[in-house]
Amino acid sequence: MQASGALLRRATENTGSLLQILIMMIEIIGAESLGVRGLSCLVILSGRRIFIDPGIALGWSRHGLLPHPFQVAIGQGIKERMIAELRHASDVILSHFDGDHCPLCNPNPYQLGLHEVAQSLARCRIWAKGSDGLPPAQRGRRVELSEALGEPLRSVEGVKEGPLEFSCPVPHGQQGERGSAVMMSRIEENGVTFVHASDVQLLDEATTGIIVDWKPDIVIASGPPLYHYRSSSYRTQLERARKNVMRLAATAATVIVDHHLLRSEEGMEWLGGLKQSSGGSICCAAEYMKREPLLLEAWRGSLYQWLPVPGDWHDLYREGRVGADEYRVRGWEVLMRRGRIRPCKWYSCCPIKRFTEAGRLNRYWIENYCLVGSKSCIRYQMEERGEYHPDAMLPNGEIREDLS
Ligand code: SF4
Repeated sequence: MQASGALLRRATENTGSLLQILIMMIEIIGAESLGVRGLSCLVILSGRRIFIDPGIALGWSRHGLLPHPFQVAIGQGIKERMIAELRHASDVILSHFDGDHCPLCNPNPYQLGLHEVAQSLARCRIWAKGSDGLPPAQRGRRVELSEALGEPLRSVEGVKEGPLEFSCPVPHGQQGERGSAVMMSRIEENGVTFVHASDVQLLDEATTGIIVDWKPDIVIASGPPLYHYRSSSYRTQLERARKNVMRLAATAATVIVDHHLLRSEEGMEWLGGLKQSSGGSICCAAEYMKREPLLLEAWRGSLYQWLPVPGDWHDLYREGRVGADEYRVRGWEVLMRRGRIRPCKWYSCCPIKRFTEAGRLNRYWIENYCLVGSKSCIRYQMEERGEYHPDAMLPNGEIREDLS
């Protein structure tokens, strides 16, 4: 099952008629505005499926609270999607080795385990950041990954090969700050260029300069960690980040800013201000995927108030004695009731809702399209155009005969 992503098309003249050439499809699988920590993307080219940063985390503790079981349920769904997509991937890019960007030998219960994807990774071309600038924990994970795959990971900083190009190590945040380095990637096919800039936080002018020189059409980058900015002394960083985002917006048609930025609602407000000044080229991952943002980490405290959780729930979950499904259904209901999400306007009368409630369809469809107001739903698009579509058509356009 696949959510429909953003399909880029380029129209060319062909003996008087317009021929549309499919160029590149980018699906953002995991990010803070999609409910989890990370910046994982699937980039589909004409002959390759490139998975960037297959990793996930939920933020172990925020305000003294462990992830709410609803977050856990959403994270589980995204993790399953990653595992399924990796089975068909041809290439995997690892920008660095933080636990929300790569599979782990010793994951916590909410992260992606190396054992879950090692076979898939072993079949892929792996393009990995080298160990330069990595802190000891990340170096260790890099070694564990190469041991699990049975061969050394190729370090590709500065490499350009076919449609792929990789940056030299760039700072994880501000230049000169103690911390780790990351690697950015550039993917180009048929004149369309996509840049993935994980964890740069848009705080370094030189890093932004590299992205600008790469002449991207679409950029995805982590934004500044506003949830850490608790005093006015951070104004300088914010102003620097604002300038860097606007510099990217002057270059690329689409600038997706997410990850660290959207661990708090202030991040969404800050992005909203930039969106207005840019005339619409700046967005978060959820908006790029044409759906409502799901800022679950930012809403963690409220989720605990709205849906209280027994004190021993996380221990029981870790031991496999309870699951998160009960909270999955109630979590969506509470978000709708509290006005945090706006479902599709056709939801109350849509046959997809009816089939799901009757147990004939997996909840995947309503959770990834209907409840998040997806505008990429084919049924929605056909309804808007007044075109006939059968009840048995799924949101991705597939006809399920067993529903007729
Ligand atoms: S299936 Fe599509 S049209 Fe129907 S409610 Fe869901 S998003 Fe809307």
